[in-house]
Amino acid sequence: MSSKFPNRITRISYVFECYFLSHTLNNNQLKSKIINDFIENKTIIETIEEDIFESQNINDLLKFAKNTVPQTKKSVIFSKNISNICYEIENKTLKFNFDIISNIFFYLSGYQEIIIQERDSLHRFNFKNSIQNKLQTAHIPIVNILFEFLTDALNTFYKIDIQNKFANPAVWVTSDVDIWQHIKRNSILQCLKKGNLIETIKVILFQKIYYWKIKLKSYEDKYQCRSCLFFMSECRKFGQYNNADYEIKKTKFQKVLQSIDPDFVGIHPSFGCNINEKKLRNEIAGLKIETSINRFHFLQFDLSKTSQILENSSLTIDSSLGFAEEIGFRNGTSLPFYLFDFNKNMTTHVVEIPLILMDATLFYPHYLGIEKKEIFFEKIVPLITNLKTYGGIFTINFHNHIFVEPKYQFWLQCFDDLMDYLQKNNFYFIDKSIKSYLNQD
Ligand SMILES: [Zn+2]
Repeated sequence: MSSKFPNRITRISYVFECYFLSHTLNNNQLKSKIINDFIENKTIIETIEEDIFESQNINDLLKFAKNTVPQTKKSVIFSKNISNICYEIENKTLKFNFDIISNIFFYLSGYQEIIIQERDSLHRFNFKNSIQNKLQTAHIPIVNILFEFLTDALNTFYKIDIQNKFANPAVWVTSDVDIWQHIKRNSILQCLKKGNLIETIKVILFQKIYYWKIKLKSYEDKYQCRSCLFFMSECRKFGQYNNADYEIKKTKFQKVLQSIDPDFVGIHPSFGCNINEKKLRNEIAGLKIETSINRFHFLQFDLSKTSQILENSSLTIDSSLGFAEEIGFRNGTSLPFYLFDFNKNMTTHVVEIPLILMDATLFYPHYLGIEKKEIFFEKIVPLITNLKTYGGIFTINFHNHIFVEPKYQFWLQCFDDLMDYLQKNNFYFIDKSIKSYLNQD
């Protein structure tokens, strides 16, 4: 695979495929005309020298983060001679004053993860190396903002009315099921540690295998939403790394799994599946329930291989792309978009619903290590404000055992407060399958 920045036509095509996934325009002829006007340079983009895209050094790219339209000042990379006006209409020609297409492409495709090769111990791209970290912009959905500029320009120039289908912010609650078998044992130990005998006895007597589901359901009822649960079908360790602590094929787990509507079930493939097609296929079969939704365990995702592996599988929706160490927008967006395959240099059919907030990111000391509720809110309010302004899907991942194990009481409270805050801010709580939500008009 080459790390070459895909050519101009590929960039334009990809950006518009993603744009029309999240934006309405029913006239296909007009869609093609808009795209062709870009390809044929009838719509003019102020581009920069192509060789900057070949740079293996993110700092070279950063040099291009110059002054631009106020909100995006910090996030637009590929620009020169930027004025405060992002587009002009001159002699019946639409002209962008900065390379809007390359900027959108850069973030959405995840190109930085191709040129920066350093990985953490779990083979993941490091947030610390990201352009979002360098610019302090992880909480800014830059692509949503650039899409708004694009919409404004297209609507004005072609006298049409394109709309963002996801302009109203929504919340998608999801839960990765890594721990199941040992929740009861863990809860007993945690109660004993606190010296709470009555609670300990209650757990011993009454805590059933599906208890976490009942607890989760109580929040679903409270906020009128439906969560998507991601299950694992591999319980053997991979080297030193844990996979599931339960054997999904066992009757007691299958009974619970089969009682769930498959539209609300996803697969949580084990360590290494993101780069191993055969292993992934076996695990999909091992779940014994049909699903097309995916999130990799540990959020492992190798952009040079994983998009293609997903494209070749039966999975059509992925929600692995979030930073493990930071909340916010790994691909600069809260909108669904197509994964890009850097091997074939083309758009895949797999829709990514970016992961924005994961519980572990908040509490692990080597990630954010938040201990106080005020700090939690200080951290998430700017993010929520941006989601309110620019729309999209606020995908949250709170692991199932958090809803039960006593030691996560504080985080369960934070979850409840967060949901309450989102409700007060008029977020729509997704109460249908994610597929039907995506396909709505
Ligand atoms: Zn996991």
